Amino acid sequence: MSVISDVLAKVKQLDPDQPEFHQAVAEVMETLEPTTKRHPEFVKANIYERIVEPERTMLFRVPWVDDKGNVRVNRGFRVQFNNAIGPFKGGLRFHPSVNLGIIKFLGFEQIFKNSLTTLPMGGGKGGSDFDPKGKSDGEVMRFCQAFMRELFRHVGAETDVPAGDIGVGGREIGYLFGYYKKIRNEHTGVLTGKALEYGGSLVRPEATGYGTTYFAAEMLATRGLDFKGKTVAISGAGNVAQYAVEKVNQLGGKVISLCDSSATIIDESGIDQNKCDFVMELKNVKRGRIKEYADKYNTCCVEGSNVWDVIRDQGIKVDIALPCATQNELDASHAAALVKNGCVCVAEGANMPSTPDAVKIFQENNILYGPGKAANAGGVATSGLEMSQNSLKLSWTREEVDNRLLIIMKSIHTACVETAEAYGRKGDYVTGANIAGFTKVARAMLAYGVV
Ligand code: NDP
Repeated sequence: MSVISDVLAKVKQLDPDQPEFHQAVAEVMETLEPTTKRHPEFVKANIYERIVEPERTMLFRVPWVDDKGNVRVNRGFRVQFNNAIGPFKGGLRFHPSVNLGIIKFLGFEQIFKNSLTTLPMGGGKGGSDFDPKGKSDGEVMRFCQAFMRELFRHVGAETDVPAGDIGVGGREIGYLFGYYKKIRNEHTGVLTGKALEYGGSLVRPEATGYGTTYFAAEMLATRGLDFKGKTVAISGAGNVAQYAVEKVNQLGGKVISLCDSSATIIDESGIDQNKCDFVMELKNVKRGRIKEYADKYNTCCVEGSNVWDVIRDQGIKVDIALPCATQNELDASHAAALVKNGCVCVAEGANMPSTPDAVKIFQENNILYGPGKAANAGGVATSGLEMSQNSLKLSWTREEVDNRLLIIMKSIHTACVETAEAYGRKGDYVTGANIAGFTKVARAMLAYGVV
């Protein structure tokens, strides 16, 4: 048995009920095999086993009161995975599917993603099985306050800096930050994704979607291609998807799809900026369903299917795919259909949206495939820039932040390409991202000795 297979076996044996975590660990570890030969010092210090074990895991009760006066209870999580290269950093997810395995998969991914950004941030993740859908603003506020009533003792601007993720947007960050500020009596950069008025950064809302599109553009450029005139499929209809649509439009592409967990809309004429503004208002203000887009613009709407189901079932041709909804949304049957219909590039705005079988199909067919930890790192990178501005007590202009984001995405792309080549895997962005992200963290862990 190799060091890597030993670690994988142990992870499965210790936590058999965490399939998403196993999947994330396997995806990273399998590409790290060559590092065990090149860096025997990592093996000697048992870095591989240490890196899959969180530094600390918090699981807590979140009691709150709904609008009818009923006392409700949810589960809260914060996994502080690795702070070798900086304070723990990673979003909070509020969704009924949240459990410890999902938070651990996300926290584990975050270690390598944050390392790739070139900024000093460790990896962490948190959240709750609370579902904000259908809740009033008052209920969401009371839940966020109850959540922070416990979380505050574990986080801090120099310790652990959470942000948003699925179900946690500007509204939730406002309630969480407001409550932290109240009970700690301090105004520090303890959360990112804040509004501009109280310490947020310009371009943070846009950053993940923009960054994913920048990354895809870099991948396309390696083959002399760009977004102009290309047909682009995007899934999701939330923060990442909305700004991916906006940036693709700016780069001259045509986006034809979006979905939420109830339905998919296909708009062959393209989701232009006016229609994108409608989606932003629908999702961020009215908190409506994507089906209302089809009602307004008289387009195709398929209920109960996601974007990749519809593309597969209707044989729709797309050049570029940007999965921006959730984990494991795109499986082998979807990947095969994308390849068959002429797709040349897949960049992941979501975390682990493609199943391992789907990734295999992309790689075997020489598709430009950018894994989430590289392609969607623009969000956390800009959170890092928000932390820098908070420390400096300064605000940078939109141009300055966007320019830094673009530079970071280009440098992540270069790191992936060069590292893959250095390990004899030219064009393999998965290997490139994993090894580049890992080596920096492993070197820092080695420097500290056994702690
Ligand atoms: P949002 O909550 O803003 O949006 C998520 C969207 O995906 C919603 O439209 C949601 O629909 C849809 N969705 C969720 N589950 C499914 C499903 N099973 N099938 C179809 N659609 C679904 O989240 P974000 O946009 O912030 O996050 C999306 C992804 O990007 C996640 O994987 C997240 O971890 C990742 N990510 C986010 C970053 C950020 O900065 N926000 C940074 C890096 C990665 P519905 O409204 O019906 O739930």
